[in-house]
Amino acid sequence: MKRSAVVQEIMKNYEKKRRLAEERRQEKVAAIYHRLPQLEALETKMKKKGISITKALLSEPEKQQLLLQQLEDDLTLLRRQRQDLMNQHGLKEADFEPVWECTYCQDRGVLKDGSHCSCFKQQLINEAYHMSNLAGILEKENFKTFRLDLFSTDKVAGETISQRENMRQILTECEGFAFNFDLPEEKNLLFYGHTGLGKTFMANCIAKSLLDRGHIVIYQTAIKLITLLENHQFGKDSREKDPQTLERLFNCDLLIIDDLGTELTNTFTNSQLFQIINTRQLEGRKTLISTNLPPSTLMERYDDRICSRIFAHYNFVKFYGQDVRWQGTETL
Ligand SMILES: [Zn+2]
Repeated sequence: MKRSAVVQEIMKNYEKKRRLAEERRQEKVAAIYHRLPQLEALETKMKKKGISITKALLSEPEKQQLLLQQLEDDLTLLRRQRQDLMNQHGLKEADFEPVWECTYCQDRGVLKDGSHCSCFKQQLINEAYHMSNLAGILEKENFKTFRLDLFSTDKVAGETISQRENMRQILTECEGFAFNFDLPEEKNLLFYGHTGLGKTFMANCIAKSLLDRGHIVIYQTAIKLITLLENHQFGKDSREKDPQTLERLFNCDLLIIDDLGTELTNTFTNSQLFQIINTRQLEGRKTLISTNLPPSTLMERYDDRICSRIFAHYNFVKFYGQDVRWQGTETL
């Protein structure tokens, strides 16, 4: 689902909210009038006064000043009577107004200056979180909870810098990716390295940072992604076909494909994966791939079309060193 489609959906909800608020207001006012018919009579009188004076002004324009003064006097009197009656029955002006969920934008989502209200932004974020498949985990796994000190400062055999230094560079790169996300020249990311080195954690950090800014992020493991595509293509049961979920894989702002290489690869998966990667690339949407496979194995596993896209348009980020206990987040 594109951001614009989500926005449209949210705006429809605002319209619905406003309609409901207006209906409730009418019910509330009707109940007050039912209880106090004299109040309604006063208000009808005030309206009629205005109309009769307008008519009089048209037929006797020379008496304008006098007529307006008369109107003002009459209205002042009627207003006072109305106010007295309201006071007697403990009514306030607010009792005649709609009750808005958001008083800033009166459930329009947009403020008077045309900018989006903060309630709109929050809804967009909530909706994006809901769709991301990451809603629960991101409170624990984000840039703020990421701890460099968990990584060893020992030199890693075959590498020029320590694991911690490497993670520091990765952190900088990932923060940069999130920060520059909207720049078309910012490349996609491919995380590779063994399990337990923080690839998923780092992908989650990026996801949260983007979600909090109202971007649509979708997380899927490669296995789930292929299952979704297979169901769509071959699923006999229409309940297994979920066009919206499928559409989001193509249209979301950031697609995270986790654990690439754990799915079964065949001609079908290769062509489907290519469709997603290539379409997203052509449409300028970013993708983050995470895999346990080293680049040389990726090249053997996936056909040339996929590899050429990945090698041309992705920054390769290597995770190495010792397994940190990513599962026991209380140690982070
Ligand atoms: Zn608002």
